[in-house]
Formats: sequence, C-alpha cells, structure tokens
Amino acid sequence: MAERAKPLTPEELEEQREYARKIRELTDRPHTYHIITYGCQMNAHDSEILAGMLGSMGLQEAERDEADLVIFNTCCVRDNAERRALGNVTWLNEIKKKRPSMKIGVCGCMIQEPGMAEKIMKQYRFVDLAFGTADLYRFPQILTEALNSSSTVIETGSPHRILEGLPVSRSRRESAYVSIMQGCDNFCTYCIVPYVRGRERSRNASEILEEIRHLQEDGVMEIMLLGQNVNSYRSQDGVTFPELLSMVDRTGIRRIRFMTSHPKDLLPELMEVMAGARHVLPQFHLPVQSGSNEILRRMNRQYTRETYLERVEQLRRAIPGIGLTTDMMVAFPGETESQFQETLSLTDEVGFDSAFTFVYSPRVGTAAARMENQIPPEEASRRIQALIALQERRQQEVMQRFLGTEEEVLVEGMSRRSHQQISGRGTHGLSVTFPGRAEQIGTICRVRITGVRNNTLVGRQTENEGAVS
Ligand code: SF4
Repeated sequence: MAERAKPLTPEELEEQREYARKIRELTDRPHTYHIITYGCQMNAHDSEILAGMLGSMGLQEAERDEADLVIFNTCCVRDNAERRALGNVTWLNEIKKKRPSMKIGVCGCMIQEPGMAEKIMKQYRFVDLAFGTADLYRFPQILTEALNSSSTVIETGSPHRILEGLPVSRSRRESAYVSIMQGCDNFCTYCIVPYVRGRERSRNASEILEEIRHLQEDGVMEIMLLGQNVNSYRSQDGVTFPELLSMVDRTGIRRIRFMTSHPKDLLPELMEVMAGARHVLPQFHLPVQSGSNEILRRMNRQYTRETYLERVEQLRRAIPGIGLTTDMMVAFPGETESQFQETLSLTDEVGFDSAFTFVYSPRVGTAAARMENQIPPEEASRRIQALIALQERRQQEVMQRFLGTEEEVLVEGMSRRSHQQISGRGTHGLSVTFPGRAEQIGTICRVRITGVRNNTLVGRQTENEGAVS
C-alpha cells in the first residue's frame, strides 16, 4: 500500500518563506509577474497560490509582454492544451530575445509528464525554470535557484503532499476556490491526472473550515469546494464528503458549490445533505463520459449507464429542478457507431443543462493510448458535431423550465455582448444575463428569467441586495 501523503510541516513552510523574504530583499530581481493558466479549476487555484507566493516575494502583477517573470501554468489532459501552451512558450521567446532579462517559467501538470522535463531541457533552453505540481510549494526556492543559474532549473521529483498554509492571492473578491483534496486514485484509462497529480489526499476538515471562515470575514459570498473526485474525500480523522459539506453549510457562507463528483461514489447521504442544506446550491456536475456500458467498462469508470441514470433520477427526486451538467467524450478507442448512438440516446434522455463535450485525446502513459482501433479524426469530428447539435437542442428545451422563475445571480462581469448588460451565475449553475451596471459586479441580484439565449438565461432584475463590502 502506498505511503500516506503528509501535510507540509511548519518547518518546510518557514523554509520557503525565508527564500521568499530573501528574494524580496534583492534589488536585482524580477519586480513584476504574469501568469497564464490552462486547464481546470484546480489549475486556476494553483495559479492563485503562485500569485500569493509571488506577492510575498514583492512582485506585482503586470501585462504579459511587460512582465519580468512570465509563468505558464500548464494542463496536459488533452493534446491540444499541451500544444497550445508549448506554442505560446515558443512565441514568448521572441519577446525575451528583445528583453533578455525576462524570465520564463513553465509549471503544472504538463511538466510532470514522462519525458517533458528532458524535452524542455533540449528544445526550450530559453525557459529559465520548470517545475511540476508536486513542487509547487517549493516555488520560492526554485525561483531563487533560477535567479542564480544561467541554465534551466527543472524540479519534478518531490512526493505529492497535502498543501496547507500557502499564501493565496485570489482572482475574485466575491467568490473563491477552496481545495479540499488533491490527486485521484481512479485511473480512468484515458486520463493522465493520477499520473501527474498523484494519489488522493484530503485536507483536514478543521483547516478547510478555518479557511472558509477567513473568506467569510473577507466578504466572500460563494465558495467552490474543489477536488478531482470530491465524493471520495475522507480526512485523516475519517470525515466524509457529506459530513464536510454539512459542516461547511453550518458556517453560514452564502453560496456553496463543489466539483467534481464521480458517479460511482455518489451516495444517498450526499443527496440528503444537499436537500436539507441552506447554502448548498441546487446544481450538480456529474461526468458521464459515455452512454455505452462497454465503453464505460473499457474506460474503467466503474458504473453502468443504468446506475448513472438511477443517480440522475435520485438527484432530481431529492432536489427538484436541480441544475445538472456533465462531461462527455466521443471516439474513445474502438467506439462503434452503435456505442456512440448510446451516448446520443443518454444525452437525449437525461436533458443536461450544459455539457462539456470532448473528442478522446490519447495521452502517453495511459492504458487507452495503447488500445487498438483509435478512431480516425474525420469520424471523431462527425461524432462530436452530432453530439454538440443534440446537446444544444436538448439544452434549449430543458432550460425553458426556468422561464418565469427567479434566480439569485452572483454578478461576475459585464456581458460580452453589450455594455448595458451584466452577467453571472445563477443558483442552478447557469449563466444569467440581464440589464445592469458595472457597479453591480460582485453583488447578488434577484433576476426574473424571461428568455433563453443559446446556453444563457436572460432576464430582468427584481431586487439588488447591495455590494460586497
Ligand atoms: S476520476 Fe477519472 S477522469 Fe477524473 S481525474 Fe480521476 S482518473 Fe481522471
């Protein structure tokens, strides 16, 4: 059995703080930074930790081309995310040639992939520092080494730890990510995450609750509890996810969301907690991936189409009107036309409020990448188009249930379509747009829904509850 991951110790944290202090005292050091983030919310939260550490070293945020230090926080879940990141790193070298004092860093999941560190060493010599997800907490030390070195500093070897006590600079005032666990033990055959983010490790409930209390004091109104598979959260003293969610609900924080849930671990206890909670929003992200039992088996998802549909049914019974979203993949190796049709029929049957749809992307080192019968790109493209078209039609239909209802919307920004419109996320997890002003960003507004436009609800405000202090 693998050794249990340990939280960072006070000594380890202090050692990194000392590196940060020394960097801050240097005159000849980077003074500004820019972080470019790819991938999921976990990565976005890691970037907030990076920003927190950079702040403790005395660096300020700046535009990409003017920054003294640019960091690419990469994703490797799909091939195109990886190619895009490497393309942008290469492109930035053109700026660095004009401004050789600029430092370039690459971190995140991609660096943790087998062979990537060597590739960076050989083909991207202009990169000054590179480090994997497990070395994130050692960033002040790695940057110190890079500032004293003329060649690329690469760190990928640390064991994965429970991250606790690191500074965080949040990108929004009104909402915040709270990581409750890191890593994954599921080994879905297409997925690289367990290889690059390590085994599951859960933070202690007491530390999570303390972080949430601080966020409340800072005026944060909405938190998103994050984990690769929150349903398998279990703290070292045995607290389960439904128990944790219930404790978080009792803190009184205004809105609670969480993701991601694995269908195999979704238990009735969680639905009961959600149904009785005052602050947990009625929304659920439940990735299905495929509607075919044979493909689910070969993906090692450990549930069947029937169990998935049963979970959906139970969720809808427990929390009527719940917003339901999913992830779906087409063109898994060997997926036949009839197996693809099963994904379409499941999509039709469930009626998701929103779906992230993907073409399977082989990742070196995963079991699926070694499978036969990879689907040709033109066939994969036909399948994804058909799935998107069906999902869009179903989404339009199911979103009609919101017409005439009221949603509490946490306003996130101006609408991209109009300067007279603002938009945010409603209680059911959907994007809501309505007439408003920039000053309302960061407030919660009650909005009566009057229409559906693509994947957005549109409406008009009935009452504004005031700005965040
Ligand atoms: S549950 Fe499966 S898809 Fe999700 S991170 Fe773990 S291995 Fe990847």
